[in-house]
Amino acid sequence: MRYLHVFFQSGQALLRGAGEWIFPQLCPGCGQHLTEDVPFLCLGCLRTLEHPAPDIIRAHLQAHWRAEARLEIGYSLWMFDEGGTVQKIQHALKYKNRPRIGRYIGALIGEYLIGIAEEWQADLMVPVPLSRIRMIERGYNQSTELAKGMSVVLKLPLCEDFLIRTRATKSQTKLDSSNRWANVSGAFTVVNPEKVVGKRILLVDDVLTTGATLAAAAVPLFEAGAEEVRVATMAVVR
Ligand SMILES: [Zn+2]
Repeated sequence: MRYLHVFFQSGQALLRGAGEWIFPQLCPGCGQHLTEDVPFLCLGCLRTLEHPAPDIIRAHLQAHWRAEARLEIGYSLWMFDEGGTVQKIQHALKYKNRPRIGRYIGALIGEYLIGIAEEWQADLMVPVPLSRIRMIERGYNQSTELAKGMSVVLKLPLCEDFLIRTRATKSQTKLDSSNRWANVSGAFTVVNPEKVVGKRILLVDDVLTTGATLAAAAVPLFEAGAEEVRVATMAVVR
């Protein structure tokens, strides 16, 4: 539970100067009033959020495994809980204009990674990019916000302009597995291929579902000469 303390320390450091709550003063998990010491999510709710077993993440990555996108290992902070606290957090992060939540959770992901992936050292982090249109609509990329919080804790360079989404894609949520791959395959391009040669890259996204989007984003990174790509997400579905 070491990271719980760091969560509040690093989270508060990120919030300092923000001038406002990233959430209203109610805990999104249980609805109780939050104090200045515990912004964002009460400690009781934070403790109830489940960490995934590694085989769940591996199964999702294998579902879209392909030779040109060798994603073998991933890390997710929480199990996604349909209708639960993590889904509420994701909703706030994506649709309610709360980019600071992402930085806050990113710091927590970073601490979690230090605990479970100590032996592995990435060279840089790349967030999964949004299409230009989605970026204009939302005003920020939630994966970039997560990666910003992670980069503070992990002290890793965040390379948000290395990968771009060159083709707008439909939402993956209503597509079946094979259509998901068709939807995102070829949608990503590496901007500066020479900068990823021989690099170990941590690819950051908000939620790991089938792994199709992450695999599609990994393809051009490998084609450009990346040595290894691992993924980190806030949550993984069951
Ligand atoms: Zn709570």
